[in-house]
Parts: sequence; structure tokens; C-alpha cells
Amino acid sequence: MSSPNPANARWQNWARTESSHPALVIAPRSAEQIVLAVQRALETGRTVKPIGASHSFSGIGVTDGIRIDMHRMRGLVSADPSQGRVTLWGGTHLWELPAILAPLGLALPNMGDIDRQTVSGVTQTGTHGTGLALGGLATGVVGATIVTGAGEILTVGGQQNADLLPAVAQGLGALGVIVTLTLQCVPRYLLRAEEEPATLEETLDGFIERCRAVDHFEFFWFPHTPTVRTKTNTRLPLEHPRAPLGRTERFLDREVMNNGVLGASAALCAVIPGAAPLVSRVFASLSSRRGYTDESHRVYVTRRRVRFHEMEFGLPLEAVPEAVRELRAMFDRRDYRVAFPIEVRSAASDDLPLSTAYGRETGYVAVHRYWRDRDRGYFREAEAILAAHGGRPHWGKMHRQTAETLRPRYPEFDRFAAIRDRLDPDRVFANPYLSRVLGQ
Ligand SMILES: Cc1cc2nc3c(=O)[nH]c(=O)nc-3n(C[C@H](O)[C@H](O)[C@H](O)COP(=O)(O)OP(=O)(O)OC[C@H]3O[C@@H](n4cnc5c(N)ncnc54)[C@H](O)[C@@H]3O)c2cc1C
Repeated sequence: MSSPNPANARWQNWARTESSHPALVIAPRSAEQIVLAVQRALETGRTVKPIGASHSFSGIGVTDGIRIDMHRMRGLVSADPSQGRVTLWGGTHLWELPAILAPLGLALPNMGDIDRQTVSGVTQTGTHGTGLALGGLATGVVGATIVTGAGEILTVGGQQNADLLPAVAQGLGALGVIVTLTLQCVPRYLLRAEEEPATLEETLDGFIERCRAVDHFEFFWFPHTPTVRTKTNTRLPLEHPRAPLGRTERFLDREVMNNGVLGASAALCAVIPGAAPLVSRVFASLSSRRGYTDESHRVYVTRRRVRFHEMEFGLPLEAVPEAVRELRAMFDRRDYRVAFPIEVRSAASDDLPLSTAYGRETGYVAVHRYWRDRDRGYFREAEAILAAHGGRPHWGKMHRQTAETLRPRYPEFDRFAAIRDRLDPDRVFANPYLSRVLGQ
């Protein structure tokens, strides 16, 4: 087991909201090497923190203990095509999956906006896409092998320790190091994407019906404008004719608009905040109607090279229109100048104890800011609005909630805490973020 970097190199996350100096960085090649790291931590009183692609905005990945870099534990362990299941090493990135799954005739049932993260990172934090009939990525975990805080290798799922699976599947990195994950996949499919501008008011009026009527619905609202951009994806069989975005259109969209122009505009607004409403209006006015059909992962995934900060809450689905209207009223009342859109999505109810969609159909409202903007209260005030609607914060995104405020929002919070006591009695996997949101 050797270090990929200088052994105690400074770590920072993608959004530059968090950084730390681990005492030691190791890159294991096997479960046994992870066991050694945990044993060493237990002997020396240090903590352990596995990290994926460092794409969480929250402090969930921070450590001054032993950082476990999983980049040497990637790829396919085994496949069971008859059941549509694959077992992957814990450090496998989402972008590596199409090459693994396509030859097996499989795909992920749903995805979020990007594919830079790891399978462990997305499932541990409850990463989700949109679609009211579909759960977040952790709901697809049907098995795992972990190294517990006692330094034991534990198989979870199937006939073994199945009672632990819902907690381990989305464990916030608090229950063990994921060595392998078994994911339930679906047959490969295409998506037909329809994107079009609409007014915020009509979209909010029809939001719940739209979520129910189509496979995947989401919208982006440009603050300071009455305009949204809606995106509706429809699932199609693989044999359906494809109509992908042309190369030029893809380049103009992904590189020029989503990254080049957005980056330059955001940088301008960071220096001249007064320009933000104008920039938002320009982006809203450039939003036009288009449609394309392609392999599912190509439609889900975008490239996000412009760095930003993000906070997202999962709300009871029916609360979303009112919550977004309150955000709009906040913009009318206050002088926040924001050039980044607010994104609204949905997910099915599920039964993972710490899932933001536990026990209820969920609508997600995400607010963003350019990373260099000085936050003059926008996130704090938006958080108060979203939390007041029973919102549950995305564990990988920025928020200020604590165990005290979160416990009443998670009916199985104490059950998760009991499993944490069992799998990590010495709090080897603790860090300041976990102590804040789960308690000591
Ligand atoms: C540009 C961008 C776009 C995003 N889009 C979406 C989106 O569409 N939907 C959404 O829901 N979220 C989204 N996110 C959030 C992101 O998906 C999550 O924060 C996710 O956790 C990041 O995965 P990661 O591999 O980078 O994990 P990391 O940030 O590296 O780690 C996250 C947590 O997982 C734990 N972990 C990592 N590996 C292991 C392991 N092997 N064993 C045990 N625990 C482990 C870590 O300890 C930590 O607690 C986005 C983030 C960014 C920066």
C-alpha cells in the first residue's frame, strides 16, 4: 500500500469549500490493506476517512487522520447478467460504468448531472437524479463488502447481515469503508430529451402533475426573471432510432455556453455583482426549444467545469411550489444578486434510514452560487425557507443543520445511530461534519 501523493498532502474538495491536512494518505489495493489501516488507526487513536472523487460540497470528506484514497480499487469484480447485477470495487467512478455495463446489456436506472463521482461517494451521500418513480442511487445497492470500525471485513446483503443493508447503502461514510458494492442495474435504454423555456408560474402550477406524467422532469429557474428551462426525459428501448446532438451543437452547448460563457459571466458578476440580474436575464432569453435522443448516460450527464457552491434540500413533493414561490419572494425583498439557476427535481419515496426521500415522495430544490461570490446571506436565508418546509439537506452539499435539527426529520435516525454504535463503536470514521449531523 503506497501513497499516491506526498503522504500528508493537503486535501481540498472540488468546490474549494473544504480542505484538510490528513496525517497520512494511503492507496490500498485490497480489503486486507484497509483492515491494516483501521487497526493502525485504532492503535494510534487516529481516524480514517475513505474518499472518492472529492465532489462533495460539505465537510463530509474532511480528515486530519488517515485518508484512504480508493483509486487503486476500481472496476468490475463480478457480474450476474441474469439478475442485472454488478459488483464493483468501491473506488469505481460513474464515468467508468458505461464501458463496464454496456457489454453486459446494462445501465444505471437513473443518474444525476455529472459522472465524475465514485459509486461509493454517490451512494454514501444519497446522490440522486430526477424521476418520481425512481429512487436515488443508493436505492440500487443490493450488497456490499465493508471494513468496519473494528477492522472486520463484513458482507452485507443477500443472506448475510441483510438487516444492515439500508443503513450501509447510504451510510455517510460513517459505518465502514466500502470495499465492493453490488448494484441493481436495468437493461440499457435510450432517453428522449425535450428542453424548452416556460414561465416559472405555469411550471410551478403544473409541477406535481408533470412529475407524475413523465419519466424524468426537472427545471432550472433563472433568478431575477420569470423564466425557467424545463427538461423532460422519456425512456425508450435501445432499438428506438437515435437522434443525438450534433458535434457542433454539443460543443456549443457543453463547452461554449455551459462552461465558457457561463464561466466568464460568473467571473464578471463576482467583480460587478450588479451585473448578475442582467446575466441571468440573458441566459434565460437564450433558452430555446430542442430535442434529442441518445444512450441514457449521454443524456443525463453534463460537464460542469465552472466551479460553484451548492445547497440542496429534499422536501415533501407537494411543498415544492410554495417553497420556490417563497424563494422568489425572497429575491423580490432582498438584494441578492445571483447569476446561477435554481434547480428543481424529484424522486420516489424510499426506505433508507438517512435518505432525504425516506418515507415520502420528494422534490429537491438546489441553490447555487459561483464559487468566488461572497455569500451575503443568500444560502442562509434560502436554507431557512427550505428547512421550514420539512426539508432534509443533501448530505454532500452545504448546509448548517445539526443532529438536533435533523433527528425529528428522520424517523429512523436513532436506528441508524444504533447501527453506527455497532459498526464503529470507537468512531474511527468520525470527523467534525459527522459529529455535527449525527452526534458524537
Ligand atoms: C459539479 C457537481 C455536480 C453534482 N451533481 C449532483 C447531482 O446531480 N445530484 C446529487 O444528488 N448530487 C450531486 N452532486 C453531489 C455529489 O454527487 C456527492 O457529493 C457525491 O458524494 C460525490 O461523490 P464523490 O465520489 O466525489 O464522494 P466524496 O465527496 O469523495 O465522498 C463523499 C462521502 O462518501 C464517503 N466515501 C467515499 N468513498 C467511500 C468508500 N469507499 N467507503 C465508504 N465511504 C466512502 C466519504 O467518506 C464521504 O463521506 C454534485 C457535485 C458536484 C461537485
